[in-house]
Amino acid sequence: MDLGIRGKTGLVCAASKGLGRGCAEALAEAGVDLVINARGAEALEATAAEIAAKHGVKVTPVAADITTDEGRARVLDALGGQADILVTNAGGPPPGNWTDWSRDDFIKAIDANMLTAIALMQALVPGMIERKWGRVVNITSQSVRTPISVLGLSNTARAGLTGFVAGMSRQVAPHGVAVNNLLPGIHATDRAVSLDTGVAKAEGISLEEARIRREASIPTRTYGLAEDFGATCAFMCSQHARFMIGQNVLLDGGASNSAI
Ligand code: NAP
Repeated sequence: MDLGIRGKTGLVCAASKGLGRGCAEALAEAGVDLVINARGAEALEATAAEIAAKHGVKVTPVAADITTDEGRARVLDALGGQADILVTNAGGPPPGNWTDWSRDDFIKAIDANMLTAIALMQALVPGMIERKWGRVVNITSQSVRTPISVLGLSNTARAGLTGFVAGMSRQVAPHGVAVNNLLPGIHATDRAVSLDTGVAKAEGISLEEARIRREASIPTRTYGLAEDFGATCAFMCSQHARFMIGQNVLLDGGASNSAI
């Protein structure tokens, strides 16, 4: 299927690895010129060079912390202040217990997983409205639908972003801009290794055993792949997604047991 976005420009945040990289790869395959971002310059530059060589598009790496004003300013500068496609993403907050999180912990999580996405939309969506075309995909989490107790910081921040998008997406839809969220269940990335390491430590089992147990709880019996996640993201950024507005698209292998 031709996604109809060849020649568009896009920003994919937190994209040197994992789900962000999967999204960048799929958008590049569809012919989108990209700015990609992560904090670590070395991995980011290697990823940008690989994607550009493989798909023949322009990929500009900007090493910066996307959760800071300064980092976002540098990324927006590299875009010349405008993009047709925005994929928001950042690292997830650490697990813990609800009794232990301080105000600072909450502010940090809300900054990274709620306010950063909102700031980027506020910076880039007005230009999309002017040009009468735009697509935004926010990478959130399965935890928005089925909260994961040890990830309370993530549950809290992402719930806020979900509420914001529910309203704002309807306000910008008349102008040809489609804003949606993409909700990963467990995917085989470094984040999954880090979460499984926490479970292994807490339960006194091996990392492999933690993964086997988690896989057994998913109807597909496997973790998701960044490539498949990226392909869904690229579809949500395509011409064909014009009627998809304010949705929360869940990719979790059927792990959330609900009818809708
Ligand atoms: P990952 O494999 O650990 O990759 C994270 C990427 O984000 C890396 O490129 C990392 O590079 C970059 N990054 C992290 N913090 C950043 C920051 N402050 N500014 C810029 N770049 C940053 O993680 P992932 O699995 O792709 O997860 C992506 C998001 O999805 C996270 O918010 C995670 O909580 C959420 N999620 C993941 C899963 C899953 O199973 N994988 C499930 C539910 C939700 P640097 O470290 O160099 O910055």
